[in-house]
Amino acid sequence: MTSPIRTEKHDNVLVIISDNPPVNALGQAVRAGLVAGIEEALSDDSVEAVIIRCDGRTFFAGADITEFGKPPQGPSLPDALDRLEASDKPVVAAIHGTALGGGCEVALACHYRVAVPSAKLGLPEVKLGLIPGAAGTQRLPRLVGAEAALPLVAIGNPIPAKKAKDIGLVDELVSEDALEADAIAFAKSKIGQPVPRSSEGNANQDGIKNPDIFDEFRAKNGRKMRGFDAPNAAIEAVKTAGEKSYEEGAKRERELFMQLMTGTQSKAMRHYFFAERAANKIDDVPADTPLIDIKKVGIIGAGTMGGGIAMNFLSAGIPVTILEMKQDALDRGTGVMRKNYENTAKRGRMTDEQVEGAMGSLTPTLDYGDLADCDLVIEAVYENMDVKKEVFTKLDEIVKDGAILASNTSYLDINEIASVTNRPGYVIGLHFFSPANVMKLLEVVRGEKTRDDVLATSMKLSKKIGKVAAVSGVCPGFIGNRMLSKRQEQANKLILEGANYWDVDDVLLEFGFPMGPFQMGDLAGIDIGWHRDPSKVTTVREALCAVGRFGQKAGKGFYDYDESRNRTPSDEVKQIISDFAEKEGTKQRDISKDEIRERLLYPMVNEGAKILDEGMAQRASDIDVVWINGYGWPLYTGGPMFWADTIGLDTVVAGLEKHDLPVSDYLRKKAEAGKTFN
Ligand code: NAD
Repeated sequence: MTSPIRTEKHDNVLVIISDNPPVNALGQAVRAGLVAGIEEALSDDSVEAVIIRCDGRTFFAGADITEFGKPPQGPSLPDALDRLEASDKPVVAAIHGTALGGGCEVALACHYRVAVPSAKLGLPEVKLGLIPGAAGTQRLPRLVGAEAALPLVAIGNPIPAKKAKDIGLVDELVSEDALEADAIAFAKSKIGQPVPRSSEGNANQDGIKNPDIFDEFRAKNGRKMRGFDAPNAAIEAVKTAGEKSYEEGAKRERELFMQLMTGTQSKAMRHYFFAERAANKIDDVPADTPLIDIKKVGIIGAGTMGGGIAMNFLSAGIPVTILEMKQDALDRGTGVMRKNYENTAKRGRMTDEQVEGAMGSLTPTLDYGDLADCDLVIEAVYENMDVKKEVFTKLDEIVKDGAILASNTSYLDINEIASVTNRPGYVIGLHFFSPANVMKLLEVVRGEKTRDDVLATSMKLSKKIGKVAAVSGVCPGFIGNRMLSKRQEQANKLILEGANYWDVDDVLLEFGFPMGPFQMGDLAGIDIGWHRDPSKVTTVREALCAVGRFGQKAGKGFYDYDESRNRTPSDEVKQIISDFAEKEGTKQRDISKDEIRERLLYPMVNEGAKILDEGMAQRASDIDVVWINGYGWPLYTGGPMFWADTIGLDTVVAGLEKHDLPVSDYLRKKAEAGKTFN
């Protein structure tokens, strides 16, 4: 096998070049090649400096993830990097593309780093539930200081080359189209000087002088890190870099890394990494299916969803025509969109020109005729079959042939909606989540007659607008809301049977969800869809509305709220619930948090099993993608199906039986056979 690494000599400089497409991952052959390259440089007296660079689109973009979990084959990356750094001839990393993870570590082990301005550097290991190797946690703080290292190591977002230069991670920015030549000139200028080794640096003393920076960092990023093990391990490793020798720090880093690598969180996060990519593939749609060109999008309804959906396309540079029934609704809808953009600009995440650019590509209208030349129209009107049918009948008459007609319905039957058109093959569900300009998930609902090109185009488009897509078949609530209904059903039953509603919320918070169902109800407004007759009380929600407990906006709903929107459980509500239970003839009892957790989560897994059995989801991991991106299921458990695999399907079945809840045949058979979903 030929090595992916070759060397070229330019005068007294040896250039070590990796050519390992697509992203120069640091597999065994690359690591061995790097060591061989450095040995060649050291054994050749005419070589006085070394460059490491990559062919193709990027510098080393990370470890070879397919090697994870397999027996390690030497040289290990830390060993290879120690060999690089030990060189007494200057070694310069010449960086373009993305120097990520192990790639960034290669750069850190080199004595100098030069980069083109478009390059990015980062240590994203925490996103897979891990921490970077010793180069990341021990060399980086010694090079740039603990404070600058913390976000890179513990949050994991890459930084642009310019920022890397500002913090001292990059020594020099070089010309975009002359990376190698500039790197050689740079290397030559360093010949004869003592080589700086980042493992010997001491910029990390900032963490010793002011040990509070670690707690401050934790406090500032608490929400992002909640429940995740890896960021805390990363912080500890960076702190160790200030307190101990490099060797001791590297040893501690290894221990922390191994704990994470063998723990469930990282397994779950690696599962998710592959799940997200798999969800993009539709098994029976060929990869080379021709796509429909989407140059202009129409949206019907400028309400909560329509406006947010429109923003996705505008932000991606696709013009949108948005239609409403009345001028005031149209003005209100577009006004909200502008305000959202302006708020983003205020936070520095958009320029004023970008705001105007996006809003300038928006055409508000009351006239269906303006949608005629759209390539895709997404309907986001009221959740009512008759209204949807009326809209699709009109769209079918007006919109050009070959255009996609999509519905954002949450529960309704896409096949029935498609049946009123003469082009059911062009009808699809594009189910966005609220707020649609923020939430990552897009459930792509495949109707019975939906064409392959319509599906393939929708998947491709989802990427363009920054969404994570998963395909669902047509069933009430599709994948996400269908499973949510089962959780909500139990939540409602539990509080009638005597569980504290705040315990129900807290169980989900403790599990890692951002919010529980009753907090959610208060936030959205308990009076949504209320009939406005206080004398008619058939549910707990109606009972709350009857006494003006409409949710956060009223200062009280399930909870009482103070000015800062902090919630306190309410005795009045507890009483309202128990009165309602008595009226319904439901006896109340104390219910433990364990029972609450099992009754909320196991029925979801059971429903997921049915969804799989019916072929409504292509694979269990698609269900995990839906729940992680659409409903805040904690990423570090891998999603409902992976979590069920982790705790054991027999545990889930036993739990369902204990609480007299239905067990699907599919789940039972898998459990009995000792199998998993994933
Ligand atoms: P909304 O009431 O905020 O907005 C609906 C808008 O559609 C209103 O502005 C209304 O004036 C307009 N409209 C109604 N009929 C129309 C017609 N014939 N022509 C043009 N405009 C018309 O509702 P929403 O929350 O945005 O929900 C819209 C759809 O999205 C529903 O199908 C809903 O189930 C789905 N959905 C909602 C959410 C959510 O969290 N709100 C999430 C996912 C999907």
